[in-house]
Amino acid sequence: MVFDITILGSSSATPTSKRNPSAQLLDIQGNLFLIDCGEGTQIKLRQLGKRFQKINHIFISHLHGDHFFGLFGLLSTMHLLGRKTPLHLYAYQELKPLLDQLLQLSYTELKYPLCFHEIPEGESSVLYSDKNVEVAAFPVKHSVPCSGFCFREKEKPLNVKKNIVELYDLDPVQIKLLKEGRNIVVEGEELKSKEVTYRSFKPRSYAYCTDTIYDEGLLPYIKGVDCLYHEATFLKDLAAAAKDKFHATAKEAALIAQKANVKQLILGHFSARYKDCSPFEIEAKEVFEEVVIAEDGQTYSIRKL
Ligand SMILES: [Zn+2]
Repeated sequence: MVFDITILGSSSATPTSKRNPSAQLLDIQGNLFLIDCGEGTQIKLRQLGKRFQKINHIFISHLHGDHFFGLFGLLSTMHLLGRKTPLHLYAYQELKPLLDQLLQLSYTELKYPLCFHEIPEGESSVLYSDKNVEVAAFPVKHSVPCSGFCFREKEKPLNVKKNIVELYDLDPVQIKLLKEGRNIVVEGEELKSKEVTYRSFKPRSYAYCTDTIYDEGLLPYIKGVDCLYHEATFLKDLAAAAKDKFHATAKEAALIAQKANVKQLILGHFSARYKDCSPFEIEAKEVFEEVVIAEDGQTYSIRKL
């Protein structure tokens, strides 16, 4: 029942010797989701020993090359390795004809169905939902259309405490009623669902916000999440440049984390100009204590509560 975020790339614009362009792998209860797919993503997946044929959903935030240039190689490798399982791709519609053309040009007829889902521009929407998780897209402010993503686990069903089942020798019908939140009477005694049931764990949540300018407009979409990944392309001394390029600073990312009341902040999308990214953590900590710097290859787990 894991909720793991593995950083595959945390550099902005260009790769460096230590950082690839943007990509992340999410493992939510065994379902693998890929967010963005910068150049080098499949190599990083290989190096980390991730079973990338198990990825069934890929979300592309926007169409700057550092967020999707790794897609073609990954799709092709999945094909060459004999994938049959459908792959769902969520992106702005402009990507679709480009993909079709590239596949045609490279004489590639995919062995698996590639299901393209258009992300609606400038509005929030639910992109995906199953019994465990819901994935929503929401608009962020960048120099081109761009979406953030929020992954939220669904509430687990109620369980009846084992000692109560034994003590009252409850039958399946009585257990079902209690699980539905209804009270029952056993041998003249009322059993209140609220008192004899529990949920195995609290739903966990993760929000991904890159690329974006400092924008309080995204607060409603990410409020209270367990973990927020927010871009910090620059340090605050370059705040003007950040604004100009529709990016954010470490301090601004920390302010968003604080105002959204999130539990933990991961900073990433660092400009390649910074050889040492530790100042990002120091700057953010002045505003928000629970912050870490994204490192390629590192996994951050959201624990069950
Ligand atoms: Zn961008």
